[in-house]
Amino acid sequence: MALGVGSGVRVIFGPEPPPHGGAAPKGGAAFLGSSRCDPGPQPQVTEFPSNGAPSQAIGSGPMQDVFDLAPKVELHLHLEGAIPLDTLWQIIESHGGDASVPTREALGRRFEFRDFPHFIDTWWWMTGFLRSEDDFTQIAEAVARYLAEQNIAYAEVSFSPTDFERHGLTPQQLATAIRRGLDRVPDTKVVLNVDLVRDSGPQRGSATLESVLEIAVEADVRGINIGGSEHDHPPEQFAAVYRRAAEAGLRLTAHAGEAAGPASVWGAIRKLGVERIGHGVRSVEDPSLVEYLVQHQVPLEVCPTSNIRTGVASGWDDHPVHQLIEAGVNVTISSDDPSFFNCSLASEFRTLSAYGSKSMEQLTMAAIEAAWATEAERRELVEMVRAWWEEN
Ligand SMILES: [Zn+2]
Repeated sequence: MALGVGSGVRVIFGPEPPPHGGAAPKGGAAFLGSSRCDPGPQPQVTEFPSNGAPSQAIGSGPMQDVFDLAPKVELHLHLEGAIPLDTLWQIIESHGGDASVPTREALGRRFEFRDFPHFIDTWWWMTGFLRSEDDFTQIAEAVARYLAEQNIAYAEVSFSPTDFERHGLTPQQLATAIRRGLDRVPDTKVVLNVDLVRDSGPQRGSATLESVLEIAVEADVRGINIGGSEHDHPPEQFAAVYRRAAEAGLRLTAHAGEAAGPASVWGAIRKLGVERIGHGVRSVEDPSLVEYLVQHQVPLEVCPTSNIRTGVASGWDDHPVHQLIEAGVNVTISSDDPSFFNCSLASEFRTLSAYGSKSMEQLTMAAIEAAWATEAERRELVEMVRAWWEEN
């Protein structure tokens, strides 16, 4: 399959160059050339406009900068949290609408979170409209286009089957429908992880895993994850599920050190044998854990804006990501649920760069190294990123 990203940057996983699918403006290279002389972005403590619609914020403006245009890799993205709001609006309307969001503008306001419980409530409300295989094909295609538009060359996207059992959808149906939508967008490479949702418990997690294994190769599901309530469901509960996934050849990550503290990260490492940690930012509370992470170079999938929006961090200035990078932890940057948090991978890099620690190129290379890509895919990504930064 061919894979390419916009603005003239292209990586090919196959013999044929793909049609240009990106939305970058002509003359991007010239703009970048001049941007190198600019003082760079100024520190931003917060950047949460009221309307959380990434499709409006990304890839559509004439003044895309280096963060928009550079090829990127996203390791921690939830499919359901990345649906462009225009697509979600179409789906809600197709199911007869909802009284709480009479207009598209009202839908945007629905994503202005008061607090973390409100976020969970909105997630559950939103997933209530994803009821059919066609819905999943539609959102997968929309998310893939959103990724391609912002020059994300490779993404690992999680989906959460147990959230949709209430609609009678099986994990196999979901994975097939999602893959169908992703394959309509050849300009970005998207592989899947299954989120076993710790709140569903290990037994349902195990059943979901077995279902997914039936279709893992066909749907290109490469790994497992557990999101959800870290306090109520510590990693240890899922040890047997993770063992089974590893035996079946799937790769392993888990949300930890986000809502819960360092003990959850230790649990994920020692009891689940994870290769990466989702978030992991609260590792800074335990110096011996930071030392372990540095020594073993365990990649963290850090999503700064998500942490700020859910109250894990109070802001960019004192976000643990700075301390983790400073200590030498293997940090990668992702966007988690960009539709919910009104952020993008580009905006994460833009803000982080103002603090002047690791460069975007270094962080992207770290993500490529930590990705569950094939060696051929990894080589192509490395070459593409290196070539782009040399040229720009
Ligand atoms: Zn997440």
